[in-house]
Amino acid sequence: MEFLNHIYLQTILLLGGFLYYPFLLFRLVFSLVKFNFSKRYICEMNNQELLKKIVSHSKEYGFVYPSSEIYDGLSAVYDYGPYGSLLKNNIKEFWWKSMVQLNDNIVGLDSAIFMHSNTWQASGHIDAFNDPLIDNRDSKKRYRADLLVEEYIEKIHSKISKEIKKAEKRYGDKFDKEEFLKTNLRVIENSKKISEISKKLNHCLINKDLVELKNLILELGINDPVSGTQNWTDVKQFNLMFSTKIGSNVDTSSLIYLRPETAQGIFLNFLNVVNSTRVKIPFGIAQIGKAFRNEIIARQFVFRMREFEQMEMQFFVEPGKEMNFFDDWKNKRMKWHKSLDLGDHLYRFHNHENLAHYANAACDIEFLFPMGFKELEGIHSRTDFDLKSHQKLSGKKINYYDQKTKSSFVPYVIETSVGLDRLFLSVLSASYQNQKLKNGTERIFLKIPFEIAPIKAAILPLNAKDNLPEKAKLLYDELKTFFNIQYDEKDSIGKRYRRQDAIGTPYCITFDYDTLKDNSVTIRNRNSMVQERVLLSSTKDYIINNVSIDNLLTQV
Ligand code: ATP
Repeated sequence: MEFLNHIYLQTILLLGGFLYYPFLLFRLVFSLVKFNFSKRYICEMNNQELLKKIVSHSKEYGFVYPSSEIYDGLSAVYDYGPYGSLLKNNIKEFWWKSMVQLNDNIVGLDSAIFMHSNTWQASGHIDAFNDPLIDNRDSKKRYRADLLVEEYIEKIHSKISKEIKKAEKRYGDKFDKEEFLKTNLRVIENSKKISEISKKLNHCLINKDLVELKNLILELGINDPVSGTQNWTDVKQFNLMFSTKIGSNVDTSSLIYLRPETAQGIFLNFLNVVNSTRVKIPFGIAQIGKAFRNEIIARQFVFRMREFEQMEMQFFVEPGKEMNFFDDWKNKRMKWHKSLDLGDHLYRFHNHENLAHYANAACDIEFLFPMGFKELEGIHSRTDFDLKSHQKLSGKKINYYDQKTKSSFVPYVIETSVGLDRLFLSVLSASYQNQKLKNGTERIFLKIPFEIAPIKAAILPLNAKDNLPEKAKLLYDELKTFFNIQYDEKDSIGKRYRRQDAIGTPYCITFDYDTLKDNSVTIRNRNSMVQERVLLSSTKDYIINNVSIDNLLTQV
């Protein structure tokens, strides 16, 4: 009987096992799929969420405000707040010094926004500065037709990146990326797709074939992200220049344009600069200034605005030597971006196949924005197109006379053109950090490179009494002539640290009761939160050594 009982028990356990183990296996697979899906979902959501968080953080902490907000805003126009304008100025300073101060053959310029309207005739902007637009009849939204296709291509690129990441994880140190790209079937298929679509897109753009461009959108099955339909209108060309009238005579001769790029101001002043300075070819002219474009799609925060700032440098070279300088400037500019130390993996080159009417080579430096890899800077070999066109339309000779070879020629031009606002967004998006702390709380901080941070240090007396404020204010008065600092005695020290973290202040200098005895302060590092005791008399040098733009200049 005991034996039978045993058999009976064994049978039940075995049968139970048969049923139970597949159930367990099913649960396991289900959880894995669910986990993977939610991880992917969270990643995708994070990118969209990140931009939203940056937009609201920018407003809450005085970096960027929507323009004319009390009148419900003005689309794609933004105002920079107290910290935003400081950050922007620091980026400008870094760029300007890298160009004009570090290169003895680059000079600066600040030309007017208004220029004779023939400028834009000669440059080709009146005839050719168009974007192809397309509307969706259901959502009534307007898009740039070429960008719809480019975004489609970008999605395929991210599929390839995911395959690479997966394989990197799987093979670890043995992973050979080159080999993987050549042999993985999915990657090969997707790369082929990209090159076929890019070829078709370029063909449409070069030949201005708007019918084919619409067909391409339909063929790829691109849906409107808002309505989700493919109820597209035909593609139309749209000129991006803003025009207005100058003077009191409102006839056609008074028509004037807001410049869509700063470069033409440099070309119009080429002779002035050559004649009034001692520049010799090869040399460059750099300028920072506003540009205006009536963009069709006005989204993505300060990435695409209707009024924005460019930092451009035109480098004039002997004809035939432009390709060497083109490669040279590509590398120099990439090095410049990477010197900010936001992460080398955030940058990549994108060579153009579809060239603008003035270029014989072009390349973008792209940055991994929250919306994906997008153009940050353009490097263009502009040939002699602009100078020759201005020469032709104005009837004035625009030649360079080379003393050495006793010959004169119209120089070729390499242009480096970076959007200040896009740089600003690249810094903000790479800097925004949401850190979980050991005590279970979170802190939001901006890991802005110290050298370009808006406020370099905050002076915080532990208490607003006992002679601490008086002593702290003495240091404040001493330091404020060297860099932007803040004094804050309101709220707990923890809250004050968080406020400074949120605007990216590299150092907090705390005055405590020991300071009254040992003349030392505690300096807290924003990134590591490590606190160091430093003599009051060494504080200025301590901060300057770590926040000076000169540190960056030595790396470019
Ligand atoms: P995109 O293809 O994104 O419209 P683009 O090729 O027309 O840019 P360029 O004419 O090469 O841009 O201008 C040089 C730089 O000026 C760009 O790399 C970008 O950083 C900046 N820029 C251009 N348009 C805008 C804009 N609407 N808002 C902010 N920055 C811009």
